Amino acid sequence: MRTTAVPEARRRAVLEVSDLTVEFETRAGRLRVVDGVDFEVAQGETLGVVGQSGAGKSVTMLAALGLLPSSARLVRGAARLEGVDLLQLRPKELRNVRGKDIGMVFQDPLTSMHPSFRVGDQIAEAIRLHDAGVSRAGARIRAIELLELVGVPFAARRWRDHPHQWSGGMRQRAMIAMAIANGPKLLVADESTTALDVTVQAQVLGVLRDVQRETGTAIVLITHDLGVIAEMADTVVVLHEGRAVESGTVGHVFASPRLPYTAGLLARGPSRSRLRPAAPRVDSGPVLEVRDLVTHFRSRSGRHSDVVHAVDGVSFDLHPGESLGVVGESGCGKSTLVRTIVRLLHPTSGTIRFEGRDITGLAGRDLREVRARLRIVFQDSFSALNPRRSVGDIVAEPLRTHGRHGAGGGGRVRELFEMVGLQPDLSGRYPHQLSGGQRQRVGIARALALEPKVLVLDEPVSSLDVPIQAQILELLERLQRDLGLAYVFVSHDLTVVRRICDRVAVMYVGRFVEVGDTATVYADPAHPYTRALLSAVPITSPAERGSGRRIVLVGDLPDPAAPPSGCRFHTRCWLAFDRCVVDEPTLQRIDAQRVCSCHLVSPIEAASIGESGFLP
Ligand code: SF4
Repeated sequence: MRTTAVPEARRRAVLEVSDLTVEFETRAGRLRVVDGVDFEVAQGETLGVVGQSGAGKSVTMLAALGLLPSSARLVRGAARLEGVDLLQLRPKELRNVRGKDIGMVFQDPLTSMHPSFRVGDQIAEAIRLHDAGVSRAGARIRAIELLELVGVPFAARRWRDHPHQWSGGMRQRAMIAMAIANGPKLLVADESTTALDVTVQAQVLGVLRDVQRETGTAIVLITHDLGVIAEMADTVVVLHEGRAVESGTVGHVFASPRLPYTAGLLARGPSRSRLRPAAPRVDSGPVLEVRDLVTHFRSRSGRHSDVVHAVDGVSFDLHPGESLGVVGESGCGKSTLVRTIVRLLHPTSGTIRFEGRDITGLAGRDLREVRARLRIVFQDSFSALNPRRSVGDIVAEPLRTHGRHGAGGGGRVRELFEMVGLQPDLSGRYPHQLSGGQRQRVGIARALALEPKVLVLDEPVSSLDVPIQAQILELLERLQRDLGLAYVFVSHDLTVVRRICDRVAVMYVGRFVEVGDTATVYADPAHPYTRALLSAVPITSPAERGSGRRIVLVGDLPDPAAPPSGCRFHTRCWLAFDRCVVDEPTLQRIDAQRVCSCHLVSPIEAASIGESGFLP
């Protein structure tokens, strides 16, 4: 199957994969996971390899690079790098090619780097491994140059750091620096931005684009994120159950997908048109009221003890049947906020009222009673479920704890399974025997067991594939309609929040900087940070590529142990002026739908703020 983006005469194929077929040994016999896959990528071109989890994306590339695990067997096929079939090379020859002619960037840079060695030394080692003529000092200088090339600030100083001292985005830059160290002809990025915030993802994709412009390297991007493909790729190959089912230029495939499978992937991708209609608010007063909530930690490093300002004065109301999204980069305080609300963490100050009752200082039986109706669902369904108990037992556990299991408990468990779309006969299975989506349904069923009023959902779909994400979101929408639940929905994925939330709160270094109804905030973000976050969301329209809409934030989130003076965003704000450094803006109402804290945004009349001064 041919994928071509540039005129044939100008194309020079770097990698040509043909008839690649791979099988795995399983207890039930041989399982074919890649079945006759063909594609190619040319110099200076980016190929996207897309498909659901299990479609064979990663195995295809691992097979082409000779990195298959021992349980896999290459049945047939060829992977020619500039005419040389990699699959015919001996292991030593292949090792020479990998790291020199082929650079690889994987999803998790922390596990790809050695924790005990300095970042710069690891890059220098990659250089010397393939060029014995370079001295140790020369390799180090080159490593620093590479770190500068991929945008690591103060590279001349920071090369000495160890991987754990760098943020996820910085580590991924280091991985790219290592991958391009020897001027590869081909760069393979396997879900390399999946675990990153949208702002960091935008930075890393920008680095890949710059590298390609400077070196002309061919790039293969493996991802389930169609937005990344729309932004980056020239051509795309769609994998389904191990087969390449569709391919072509990104513009053509995205505009008129030939197969329903591809159309389905595109329909579930990030879309600017999908927006949840605002829920009519039931005016029975808020079910949850949070005022001036502060959660500080002490963090020790050496002999120093710092106060981490994880949550620093957050207020909001949540009404029955309403969803409030909390968004922001990793480390902004979202998870600490929701863990404090459900009292898994003790607040430093402020109040939390649930169903009109102050629960800030509750403990013991009183707190357990409240937690029956104020439940949390975690991101990682695997670690949230006890691996030694059947999922039926796990769902029944809150019923038992609260003395509500009794004789009819089994019936309630069955009802809960059906409510979340699980077959009741799965109740005897263990968590590892279920898929990620099924496990998350079990987590939701457990949370619903005691008929809660509020669900706090901490990144509930972040670790799931896009189609499974869509199913869980549909489930949450249905449950909210049927049961009148209120949600606090934490996510770094702004597309998900747009779909599921009535209101959105944007959080930065422990504080809300903009809160408003989702339609207004997404259509016309007021705070510069909100604008940057929204502009970084990849879109599925290749036509919008290069439209200049993107604001790439420079640098990382500040250390919450030492928040910047004045406006906390001033160290990254491209609009900052003198006052921003010394004078902290407060949340002020800027229109009927929202509040914002920025010196450049004019508040409306103080009279409309109400007596208590409470805004969101
Ligand atoms: Fe930027 Fe200043 Fe507004 Fe803060 S107050 S967001 S630094 S312009």
